Amino acid sequence: MNIILIGAPGAGKGTQAKKLSAMLNIPHISTGDIFREQIALKTDLGIVADKYISKGMLVPDEITMSVIRERLHRDDCGDGFIFDGFPRTLVQAEELDKILKDLGRKIDFVINIVVDEDVLIDRLVNRRVCPECKAIFNLETIASREMCPNCSTPLIQREDDNVRIIKQRFIAYHDLTEPLINYYSAKNVLTNVKSMSRIEDSLRNTLEAIGILK
Ligand code: AMP
Repeated sequence: MNIILIGAPGAGKGTQAKKLSAMLNIPHISTGDIFREQIALKTDLGIVADKYISKGMLVPDEITMSVIRERLHRDDCGDGFIFDGFPRTLVQAEELDKILKDLGRKIDFVINIVVDEDVLIDRLVNRRVCPECKAIFNLETIASREMCPNCSTPLIQREDDNVRIIKQRFIAYHDLTEPLINYYSAKNVLTNVKSMSRIEDSLRNTLEAIGILK
């Protein structure tokens, strides 16, 4: 099953993608995670990507597509994938269609996770992530604000989760990513799923949308 999760920053794409990936046994591919790994490793790709990410801008399509092309050709994508944060522009979506066509594959479901913007900003400033197991938490709902409850690694705040950069990320989302909603609606693969305060409820809606739950 080939799935795309789209939605504004903070909509909960990563949290849902991780759970879906474990349930469906297909890889969770987050271009944001790939870029952050490369930034931490100080590779050429990471150094370039950081220039954009630290300003809340999108990494250029050409760079993003080369990352995706390489990732999609790995063996673990044979039974499908869950894209989280990709595609983010119409050019990326069109390029993805071409790559999949060459592979004899197609996108089965696009889930657009819908949330109110004021809720999103609150979620993003309260978001903490585990650099080790990549789990995502909200400061308001975890017991320890410092340690990952899964692996006891100190939690960190993403550098782009500050109000100034968040505003830029929303501008990029509205200008460049939102048009994908029409693009995938026209292909009859898109379902809008309202993000609920409990992840279990959001996930249930997504599972219904992809036909796993009735
Ligand atoms: P995310 O972890 O999905 O919120 O992504 C963090 C940042 O990485 C974004 O704000 C962008 O700067 C960059 N990024 C992630 N995915 C893409 C993409 N598909 N195209 C361009 N830039 C991306």
